[in-house]
Amino acid sequence: MKKYSGCNCGCQSSREKSVKESKMDCPVCGASCRNVPLDVVFNFANKEIRDELQYNDYYICLNSDCEVAYFNNNKDIISINDIRRPIWFKKGAEPKIICYCNNITESQIKEAVREHNLKSWDKIVLHYRNRKNYDCNKLNPIGECCTDTFYKIINNTLDELGKERVDNSDDCCG
Ligand SMILES: [Zn+2]
Repeated sequence: MKKYSGCNCGCQSSREKSVKESKMDCPVCGASCRNVPLDVVFNFANKEIRDELQYNDYYICLNSDCEVAYFNNNKDIISINDIRRPIWFKKGAEPKIICYCNNITESQIKEAVREHNLKSWDKIVLHYRNRKNYDCNKLNPIGECCTDTFYKIINNTLDELGKERVDNSDDCCG
């Protein structure tokens, strides 16, 4: 697994895609999909599903409208109704969690920017939690660090406020 050279945060994730781009398309909607670590699927699947999981390559369907969460090479499907936590980009996800390691939602990020003028992953996580937790390889639904999405929300909120954007090019989750 390639390690992102700029990331020192210990999340063991990588923004230089450690997760392989997949050639598999979703068996239901045909959208392109991403390979995800088996640990992620184990962590997200409901107990009943988890007991039946096979060692196989698993993929996540990236189409927000599709009810398929994960599937494997045998086209066994785990739907969004079979998982324990909603996948943030799927339609109707509630709560819309962005940082799964620390359980921080989109609305918490917006509130921290608006009400407390906080503009980094670090400060926002510590505003809500006593310590920072990193386990993106297992806790994030795609198996990657949330930082890019997290900063997109910070910057969209800064745009709404007419404030200057921040740059997260050196930042992983820490
Ligand atoms: Zn799909």
